[in-house]
Amino acid sequence: MSLSFDPSAIDLPVGHHIAGRFVPCDAALPVLRPSDGVSQGGCPVADADVVDRAVEAARTALESSGWARQRPRERVKAMHRWADLVESEAEWLGRLESVVSTRPIAQSIPGDVAIAAEQIRFFAEFADKEGGDVVPTAADRLGMIETEPYGVVGAITPWNFPISMAGWKFGPALAAGNAVVLKPSEMTPYTAVALAELSVRAGLPAGLVNVVLGDGATTGNALTGHPGVAKVSFTGSTAAGAAIMANVARTGIKPMTLELGGKSPQVVFADADLDLAADCIARGILSNAGQVCVAGSRLLVEAPVVDALTERLRARFEAVAPGPTWDEASSYSPIISQRQLARIESIVAAATAEGAETVTGGCRLDRAGAFFAPTILAGVGPDSPAITEEIFGPVLTLQSFSDEAEAIALADHPTYGLCAGVYTRDISRAIRVMRSIQAGTVWINRYGRSTDHILPTGGYKGSGLGKDLGREAYLANRRTKSVLIDL
Ligand code: NAD
Repeated sequence: MSLSFDPSAIDLPVGHHIAGRFVPCDAALPVLRPSDGVSQGGCPVADADVVDRAVEAARTALESSGWARQRPRERVKAMHRWADLVESEAEWLGRLESVVSTRPIAQSIPGDVAIAAEQIRFFAEFADKEGGDVVPTAADRLGMIETEPYGVVGAITPWNFPISMAGWKFGPALAAGNAVVLKPSEMTPYTAVALAELSVRAGLPAGLVNVVLGDGATTGNALTGHPGVAKVSFTGSTAAGAAIMANVARTGIKPMTLELGGKSPQVVFADADLDLAADCIARGILSNAGQVCVAGSRLLVEAPVVDALTERLRARFEAVAPGPTWDEASSYSPIISQRQLARIESIVAAATAEGAETVTGGCRLDRAGAFFAPTILAGVGPDSPAITEEIFGPVLTLQSFSDEAEAIALADHPTYGLCAGVYTRDISRAIRVMRSIQAGTVWINRYGRSTDHILPTGGYKGSGLGKDLGREAYLANRRTKSVLIDL
């Protein structure tokens, strides 16, 4: 069966999902298909009143349903039913995802939708296995640590992986006994609404899962500053993360998880398996056309193998298959918007104007929509934005180094520390370099997340606070209460 579809035939849910019901609304912002620039659907903007209704619906659902108080196994079962439905509706969800996002249909159905379902399942399984503790104290006392959910979690997600990011947020928060109000990106609003609809069909209490659509300035701000939101879980840019911290500081202290941007190095030593490294490096920067927080955008190569690795990379960079996201044959993504395309172009132009060499690519692709050629820039100056800024596009800078100490120094970024890749056959060196790199994740002889959701993900420095995935993400959605009883 072909996965390709006609985008114009897709009916998009333009509206919020509050208290278990879809709330159709007028679109206030256009939503454009990155593959061809055509406007389809649109995004309403929830104001403070709408956000307030959603938070109130979440609070009421928690109170009336006993979601947090019932036997935790009931939460596990309900979430598995939800994940089952997500899997059985994978085709519908994949199309909704691909029509206005950068995710090709051949990746969104088996990849992104499956990850969303997996997140719901994976975290559900913690609900009846993680608990508090009885702690040592005097013989005539009983000391305990109870854990409790926060209540209503406010979640905000970016446009680059809309449905899987929603799964990352819903899974741990709900499994831990909270209700959620989620705001997806205004550029890719639909699949979060669809997940909320499926939660109701799966029998989760109405109002436990709410989705409000809108931009950051109005809807996002109202959500993070709402006094009824007890915890904020955000994934997006470092700049927006900082704005959210400031808003939370102004409106009331609450815990936050911030998954932010990166500028991650890929370090290749001369003894590495260069074919393997080239595969991983190409995937690490070309997946979703580099619009990935963990994009491995700074290639650091030991001098003797620069030419051999560059040739391998060139072949892979020039073999991509760009095309509309609704065409099954497409595997190379468009850029999310013309604005972002122009930004990538200007960063590349500035680097080449300062003397950088374009090894391959360097320009937009001559076709409908917003596509940028897979690009390698060599000889980029250390202060060029191509080296210092998160480009969020398919642009790899290439720098060479002569020894391990220089590699470690170059790998360090002053503000970001999300992840890194290290390629070598020398296990001792791999471990030494891994330990020296300031990043929340280091991949050795591979690049990119796996389906091992037990590994937490999150950044050092300006790349974030706290973790998504892993046991840590579940625990971050519960707080501890110390109890001491004199017997
Ligand atoms: P963005 O920060 O512009 O927007 C992300 C979300 O935040 C959107 O829903 C947006 O409407 C909202 N938002 C923006 N300003 C806000 C504010 N002041 N208050 C509340 N909400 C606000 O990011 P983007 O362009 O959608 O996504 C790309 C960025 O996300 C990149 O920097 C990327 O590295 C990062 N990202 C990080 C991870 C991770 O796990 N670390 C994963 C995916 C994306």
